[in-house]
Amino acid sequence: MNLILLGPPGAGKGTQAAMIVDKYQIPHISTGDIFRKNISEGTALGIKAKEYMDRGELVPNSLVIEIATDRLGEDDCKDGFLLDGFPRTVEQAVALDAYLRETDRKIDYVLDIDVDKELLVERIIGRRVCADCGASFHVTNMPPKEEGVCDRCQGQLKQRNDDNAETANNRIEVYNKQTKPLLDYYDKLGNIVHLDGSKNLNDLFKEIVEVLE
Ligand code: AMP
Repeated sequence: MNLILLGPPGAGKGTQAAMIVDKYQIPHISTGDIFRKNISEGTALGIKAKEYMDRGELVPNSLVIEIATDRLGEDDCKDGFLLDGFPRTVEQAVALDAYLRETDRKIDYVLDIDVDKELLVERIIGRRVCADCGASFHVTNMPPKEEGVCDRCQGQLKQRNDDNAETANNRIEVYNKQTKPLLDYYDKLGNIVHLDGSKNLNDLFKEIVEVLE
């Protein structure tokens, strides 16, 4: 099953992604995670991407398309994948479609999770992410059992550099301008499902499973 998760920052894509890949045993491909890994390793790609990420802007298409298609070329993606945070522009979506056609694959479903802006900012600012396994928590909506410690692997929970009020607002604006046009693109292709991300996370996951089965 080849899936795309779409939605503004803070919509809960990461949380749903973790539940989906666990149930369907497909790789979770998050371009944001790939960039963050490169930043922590101090690679040239990481240094370039950080400039844009710290401002809440999109990393240039040429860089993102290359890392995403390289990743999709790996063996573990042959029987399915979940893309989270890619594509984010129509240009990226067109490049993805062309790449998948070349490799005889297609996207089965685009899951679009939408949430009102007020809720997004609150979710982004309260988000805490495990530095070791990437699991996502929220200080009030989904607190870990022990403050600052990951329930899953006991790693240290941190706030992402770009999860502050100013950058969050910019990221939401960037989403509205550059990523929202993708909804039309996939509406025309007819494989998009619109979901209400203000729902409780287990109810939303149940709805996603109903769509996929
Ligand atoms: P995310 O973890 O998906 O919220 O992504 C964090 C940041 O990484 C974004 O705000 C962008 O700066 C960058 N990024 C991740 N994916 C993409 C993409 N597909 N296109 C452009 N920039 C991206």
